[in-house]
Amino acid sequence: MPALFEAVVGQPKAVAQLMAAARRPVHAYLLHGPVGSGRRAAARGLAAALLCPSGGCGQCNTCRRALAGTHPDLVMVERTGAALDVDEARSIVSRAQRRPLESSRQVLVVTDLHLAAKAVPALLKTVEEPPPATVFILVADDLPPSLSTIASRCVKIPFDPVPEAVVVDWLVAGGVDRAHAESVGRASGGRLDRALLLASDAGFVARQDHWRSVPSRLDGTGAVAAEMADELLASVDEGLVPLRQQHSQELATLAEQAEQLGAKGVQGRKQIEDRQKREERRWRTEELRFGLALLGEMFRDRLVAVAESGPAAGTPGGAGESHRAIRQVEAIDRASEALGRNATESLLMDALMVELSGMTE
Ligand SMILES: [Zn+2]
Repeated sequence: MPALFEAVVGQPKAVAQLMAAARRPVHAYLLHGPVGSGRRAAARGLAAALLCPSGGCGQCNTCRRALAGTHPDLVMVERTGAALDVDEARSIVSRAQRRPLESSRQVLVVTDLHLAAKAVPALLKTVEEPPPATVFILVADDLPPSLSTIASRCVKIPFDPVPEAVVVDWLVAGGVDRAHAESVGRASGGRLDRALLLASDAGFVARQDHWRSVPSRLDGTGAVAAEMADELLASVDEGLVPLRQQHSQELATLAEQAEQLGAKGVQGRKQIEDRQKREERRWRTEELRFGLALLGEMFRDRLVAVAESGPAAGTPGGAGESHRAIRQVEAIDRASEALGRNATESLLMDALMVELSGMTE
């Protein structure tokens, strides 16, 4: 059975719970934790266990298709808009009433449940007591209070960000050079999907160097500050290229499969494209956040240097200099926090570079 959860890395507690669930399934599970922590892989593994005639052998055709996400009794429900709405909830409810096509059960995986506050009342009764052949696997980034009723009807399986050391070992086991794995591990934010892409991203090292070059390049002029902001945003765009390639590859594979099955096109193409766009937006934010973290580190080092050399030098300017360094570090932290609040990136970066530049002369 562990083969079913091979792709769930660095989550020993969740895997133990999943294996117990596979042995004695109930009507609904709620997998909650951050993106890239293995929730989707876990949902597929659990689905394989629930659909396989031998309870999850990991070898048979049913298991293989469930793990690949192509089994017809494994239904992935992705929201189409900014949130899962009531109409979508109703279609989930009616889907839950259907009979499985091949197996003795069907598994409905509903993603982004944390964005389903309005849909919860419409879903609640069905999740609480689905038809006997239907099992729900709900997936959420976190558990806001609006989910407490539905969460209380499910077996909750928490996921944590993957520890950096586990990400590094996992990359090394996959053939990545250790030094490179360590810098990728730091940039991964505990996300395996991100770590995997960054590890093979030829531009990753250059982008890091770019951010690190900022303090020495700012010369106190607004022109250079604006130039830096533009350059950094352009390098964030470059960071999106591998993800976009992966996304078009995903659609190409699905189109090929559809053609082999004689279907007219990819089923749920719009939903898949919407999901990909959301992932790309999230990716951008994480690229920027990581860049700002590198920048913050550079200025923190400078602060430490000022603090250490200031009193020794005994110059009257020492206090002013360390005050400036503190303000620079704070400005970077504020910018990083603002990223999560839909701030306009270009304005944010312009303002930050001007601020850093004015203080670094
Ligand atoms: Zn099997």
